[in-house]
Amino acid sequence: PPVRRAALSEDDMGAAPQATGRVQQRQRGVAAKRGIPSLHGQKRGDSKDGSDPDVDERLKNIEPRMVEMVENEILTTAQAVTWSDIAGLNQAKHAVHMAVIYPLLKPELFTGIRTPAKGLLLFGPPGTGKTLIGRCIAGTAGATFINISASALTSKWIGEGEKMVRALFAVARVRQPTVIFIDEIDSLLTQRCDGEQEATRRIKTEFLVQLDGCGASRDDRVVLVAATNRPHELDEAARRRFPKRLYVPLPDRHARRAIVANLLRDQAHALSDAHVDRICDRTDGFSGADMDALCREAAFGPINAIADIATASASDVRAVAFADFEFALTQVRPTVSAKDLAAHIEFNKAFGMSA
Ligand code: ADP
Repeated sequence: PPVRRAALSEDDMGAAPQATGRVQQRQRGVAAKRGIPSLHGQKRGDSKDGSDPDVDERLKNIEPRMVEMVENEILTTAQAVTWSDIAGLNQAKHAVHMAVIYPLLKPELFTGIRTPAKGLLLFGPPGTGKTLIGRCIAGTAGATFINISASALTSKWIGEGEKMVRALFAVARVRQPTVIFIDEIDSLLTQRCDGEQEATRRIKTEFLVQLDGCGASRDDRVVLVAATNRPHELDEAARRRFPKRLYVPLPDRHARRAIVANLLRDQAHALSDAHVDRICDRTDGFSGADMDALCREAAFGPINAIADIATASASDVRAVAFADFEFALTQVRPTVSAKDLAAHIEFNKAFGMSA
């Protein structure tokens, strides 16, 4: 997004005291626009040492532009989805409530040896709803939800990833209760060490330090939810940090049916229950994202059937028919290979939690 780029523009580099006011003004602007109150006070105090007295103690050593960048990744509830938007995955939904949502909503019930682990790993093939689960947590837990992709830490903020990790956890603490959702965690915690760049290694080290600090302080209500399509690439040390590892599998027949029904809900269609059954029969091995692509492709059938789209009106569009799905099935193929799937099942057997 342009905002992040702007924050990294040359004149902000180094965030000298003169630049700080401008950066903070922008920060307030961005945060306010998104309905998120800024972490920096509205009135700028001019203390003798030049620091801002309104800034939370925990952010004192963090550059304001780093705080701003983290704040830009906070998801507002408007961007959240509801649990009923996720088809199937009932066991996973239950496990997420027990591991993350209830402990954040009712910390008084989860004390002593009931104190939950601070890290939850969601693993499974791509397009199965891991990110959707993250966005649901954002809407339910009444917590600040910071959504960061691990590859952004190692590539987009090149040279700054380490500081960014520190800022991430500092902002999370200030805004707690907080859920940090990190996508593609494998790119941050893989066992590939050979030829690894020094910068990447430092980000990893900082991340592990912060993660351990987060786990050590029982009072901080900060939970980390990480997602990966490549759990087998995580090494033992990384696995240890995520004692709860939850498999997010491909949708079963029932869930595929729910996805189709959900997507066709607002669409004129001529599909009987028997037709939907046949679609479900023929989509074994499709991910949720594949089902989504299939339905979208089928929905274009009635448009493709129009001779002259330029002069057509909405009433010329016929209902989506089973034949449209038959054609779509020739176009959309499952993206998850049998080998990939087997690797997930294997990892789940060895390291997954039973929901
Ligand atoms: P990933 O597991 O790779 O994070 P996402 O959660 O981003 O996958 O899912 C990608 C898209 O696939 C979603 O936006 C949604 O359209 C569809 N999808 C995947 N799983 C489900 C599901 N269980 N129920 C409904 N839609 C799903």
